[in-house]
Amino acid sequence: MPVQSRRESPEMADVVVCGAGPGGAVTAALLAESGHRVVVVDGEVFPRFHIGESLLPLSNPIFERLGLDPKSLGVQSVQKHGVTFLSECNQRRARIEFKGAPGIKQPETMQVMRAGFDQLLLDRAQAKGARLIAPCQALGVDFDRPLPRVQLKDSVGREFAIDCRFVVDATGRKGVLARQLGLRRMDRGLRKAALFGHFKGIPFQDGRAAGDIRIILRPGQGWVWLIPLPGGVTSVGFVFDSGEKPKDLAESPSACLERWMGQLPLLQPFMEKLEVTNQPSWESDFSYSTRAYSGSNWLLVGDAGSFIDPVFSSGVLLALSGAVDAAGALDRALGANLGRGRGLLRAYGSEQQRRYRFYRRLVLKFYSPGFQEILFATESWPAGTRALVSALGGNDRPDMGTRLRLEALYLIAWLKNRSLSNR
Ligand SMILES: Cc1cc2nc3c(=O)[nH]c(=O)nc-3n(C[C@H](O)[C@H](O)[C@H](O)COP(=O)(O)OP(=O)(O)OC[C@H]3O[C@@H](n4cnc5c(N)ncnc54)[C@H](O)[C@@H]3O)c2cc1C
Repeated sequence: MPVQSRRESPEMADVVVCGAGPGGAVTAALLAESGHRVVVVDGEVFPRFHIGESLLPLSNPIFERLGLDPKSLGVQSVQKHGVTFLSECNQRRARIEFKGAPGIKQPETMQVMRAGFDQLLLDRAQAKGARLIAPCQALGVDFDRPLPRVQLKDSVGREFAIDCRFVVDATGRKGVLARQLGLRRMDRGLRKAALFGHFKGIPFQDGRAAGDIRIILRPGQGWVWLIPLPGGVTSVGFVFDSGEKPKDLAESPSACLERWMGQLPLLQPFMEKLEVTNQPSWESDFSYSTRAYSGSNWLLVGDAGSFIDPVFSSGVLLALSGAVDAAGALDRALGANLGRGRGLLRAYGSEQQRRYRFYRRLVLKFYSPGFQEILFATESWPAGTRALVSALGGNDRPDMGTRLRLEALYLIAWLKNRSLSNR
C-alpha cells in the first residue's frame, strides 16, 4: 500500500469516485447535484478513445435526468432506430426497430464517438459541482482506518490520499477495488475476445436502417458488428472465442482485422478503398462478474463490477443505470445511520445482480443456433418479437405479459437447439 507523501492531513470528501467513464461521471454528477462533496479521479486525460459506441433507448430517461436532450445530446452522433441482423454470406437479413416495443417510450437512440460522449458526461459532473482530478491513478483503498482512505498517484508520480465516507469503484475493466478485494470472477461460459477498429469507406444502409448497428452472424465462429458513426466512419469489430486469439493475432491486430474483413462477402467490395481512422486493437476475456457489488462503505459501478458481452450494446446502459442506483443509495446512506446505510448499499448490490443475470441469460441464448434462427424469423410471431425488442432496447424490468412472451421465445429456442442437435 503506498504511503502518504504529504505532511498535511489528507483531503476529506463525502464520496471518492475512481474512474470517470459513463458510470463514474454519472454517479459523481447526481451526488454532486444532491449537494455532496464528490471527488472523481481518472487515470487518463479526457477526451480519450473508448470502445462501445452503440447506445440503447432506455438511456434516454437518464440523459433527461442529467439535463441533456436525448435527441441530440450535444455531441456528434448518428441516429439509431434499430438493429439489422445479417447472415455471414449476406443471404439472410432481419431488421428490428425499437419503436412500439413494450416499455420503450422514447425509441430513438444513437451511435456516438465515445471520446465526445464520455467528455460530455464528465463535463456534466463538473458543472454540477464534482471535483475532477485527472490524470490521476487510483492505487487502492486503505480500509484499516475509521474512514476509507483512497490512495492516489498524480501525473508526476506524487502519491497522496483522500479520506471519504464512501468509495465508488468505476474504473471499468481495471476494477481497482474489485481486484484489491478479490471479487472478480471470470465468466467461463463466455470466453470471448474482440478485434476492432474504425474505418472510412464502408457505405451505411439506406433509409431508416442507415443508423442501425449491423450484427453479422458467423455460426460457430462468433459475430461481427458494424456501427455507423459520425463523419462516415464505421466501427468494425469481430467477436470470437478467446482461444483463437494467439494464433491469428501474431501478425498484428491491423493485418489480422483487415484480412478477416476481406473474407466477409459484405465488406469485400470496399476493402481496396478502406481508410483506417482508428488503429485496430483487441480486448479479450471481458466477460466477468463479481462476488459482491457493495460493502459497508464501497460500491462497484458499471464494468468495475461486471461485464457480459458487447452483442446487445448493453454496457453503457448498465453503467448509467448502475450509476443512477449508486447515487440514489449513497445519497440516502450519507444521511442515514450505519445500519440503514448498510441496508441501502446491500439493496444496491442485489439490484445490480438482478440486472446482470437478466442480460447474461439473454446473451447466452444469443450464442445458441436455435435463438439465431429466431432472430431471422422475427415476422413469424410479432408479439414475441416485440418482447425481445423490448429487452434489446434495455428494458430489464418487462411487464408480466412481455416477460412471459420472452420466456416462450427462450423455450422455442431451446426446442430448436434440441432438434438441430438431433439432426
Ligand atoms: C469489444 C467491446 C465492445 C463494446 N461495445 C459496446 C457498445 O457498442 N455499446 C455499449 O453500450 N457498450 C459496449 N461495450 C461496453 C462499454 O464499453 C462499457 O460497458 C462501458 O464503457 C462501461 O462504462 P464504465 O464507466 O463502467 O467504464 P469505462 O467506460 O471503462 O470507464 C472507466 C474509467 O476508469 C478509468 N480508470 C481505469 N483505471 C483507473 C485507475 N486505476 N485510476 C483512475 N481511473 C482509472 C479509465 O481511464 C476510464 O476512463 C463494449 C465493450 C467491449 C469490450
